[in-house]
Amino acid sequence: MNTMIMHTLDTLSFDNSYTELPEHFYQRVSPTPLKSPYLISLNTEVARLLSLDPCDLTPERLAEVFAGHESLPGADPIAMKYTGHQFGVYNPDLGDGRGLLLGEVINEQGERLDLHLKGAGKTPFSRFGDGRAVLRSSIREYLVSEAMHGLGIPTTRALCLVGSEELAMRDGRMEPCATVLRVTPCHVRFGHFEYFYYSRRHDDLKVLADYCLERYFPDCLQQDNPYLAMFKEVTARTAKLVAQWQGYGFVHAVLNTDNMSLIGETFDYGPYSFMDSYKPNTISNQNDHKGRYAFAQQPAVVHWNLACLAQTLLTLVDKEALVAVLDSYPAQYEQAFLDLMRQRLGLLTAEESDTQLVEDLLQLFTQQAVDMNRFFRRLNGFDGSEDSLTKLMQLLQNPAALNDWLLRYEQRLTRQPQSHAERAEQMNQVNPEFILRNYMAQEAISAATEGDFTLVNDLLSLLRNPSEPNKQYAYYAESPPDWAGAICLTCSS
Ligand code: AMP
Ligand code: MG
Repeated sequence: MNTMIMHTLDTLSFDNSYTELPEHFYQRVSPTPLKSPYLISLNTEVARLLSLDPCDLTPERLAEVFAGHESLPGADPIAMKYTGHQFGVYNPDLGDGRGLLLGEVINEQGERLDLHLKGAGKTPFSRFGDGRAVLRSSIREYLVSEAMHGLGIPTTRALCLVGSEELAMRDGRMEPCATVLRVTPCHVRFGHFEYFYYSRRHDDLKVLADYCLERYFPDCLQQDNPYLAMFKEVTARTAKLVAQWQGYGFVHAVLNTDNMSLIGETFDYGPYSFMDSYKPNTISNQNDHKGRYAFAQQPAVVHWNLACLAQTLLTLVDKEALVAVLDSYPAQYEQAFLDLMRQRLGLLTAEESDTQLVEDLLQLFTQQAVDMNRFFRRLNGFDGSEDSLTKLMQLLQNPAALNDWLLRYEQRLTRQPQSHAERAEQMNQVNPEFILRNYMAQEAISAATEGDFTLVNDLLSLLRNPSEPNKQYAYYAESPPDWAGAICLTCSS
């Protein structure tokens, strides 16, 4: 029998530790209520993660609370101060400009989770912004965080999505506003450390580092230099995270240091995309004119971001030790990427020649702009039969170019003891049927703008278990429509 205590919104166990830090780490701000709010979607899995009983959550109450009309007992909303490097340039004027940390909740497993309301209104860090998030970008963040979770890629989650009649100006036109309630253990960004480092508040930086050690990296406290151990752990997690992005064709698009989570989760979704066709120079943000955050740049740019974080730790750790950790990043990234590609290829043993096999496949993907995620999915069922071969070949403009690679792949498979069925079962876990393509998000946005939230909710379930076939939405596993290529994403959100 399940004896787990389930809470209501009124009995959530708030225990706010960040507000116990010195006052200049944040500003207390209450949400500015949004007009005529309505619930668009509730993620019942995230409700359970918070030990909330979904049956007790009414749409009306969720809309009231998460549009800022009512505060929760124990919440203590703050805007966190941070800075960061945006497109390579240091910006001292950042901070939560439209999101508020409502508080921290301890669930029944004893896990501490931040509740962050994105789109909650202006704060002292809003600069010229209106403090709002529009429905379009809120749907994109809401759906992709579940999709990433479904793929096993570390990510922030979201409890619910609330719409409103209020409008905000974006790219010269009015759009409806919304909020997303973001849930994650960590809202500390690389930029939090940069704030104290560049404002020369070294004592505060140590306070922040100690807070993070205790909350996120308690094992590091046992090490000779806990700060160095923490940086090692951040580097290891981040290298693995980027390897997963590269392995699934995910373009984050705005890898500024203020969008880098200290615990190695994908954080702050903007004009991201999963590539429909493999093009390493894909830029997913139309405002990124130089392609700083193009798909192929991500491993290097994240290395650069880690160097920014390392720099802030210079008062706590020897430079040589930090540099040694930074120098270990490329190999850690390569290893994590190779491990993932082996899984996606169904290679259950490791051989040295696998690196070349992977490289040659990526080269083929690049030359023929292959839809990598559909390719891997079809590879699950590849057993050498004519039918399975045809299915793979259909994904290439010049199918003959695959012959040589496939021959080597088949030979490679014969050198591992596992059966085709064992391999297929493992591959099914990592090669999903569904991935959140931009056009799918766009269809959900269009329907929601017309007041129909079915697709938002259906995509949430579909992407939560992306390897499960789904008859109703089978077409989302097929080739994207022609208009998908014309979708234009900008930073505006
Ligand atoms: P982002 O591009 O979402 O990572 O945001 C970069 C910075 O701009 C952060 O400090 C945000 O809080 C702030 N910001 C983004 N949009 C708005 C907005 N509509 N109003 C106020 N601040 C914003
Ligand atoms: Mg951000």
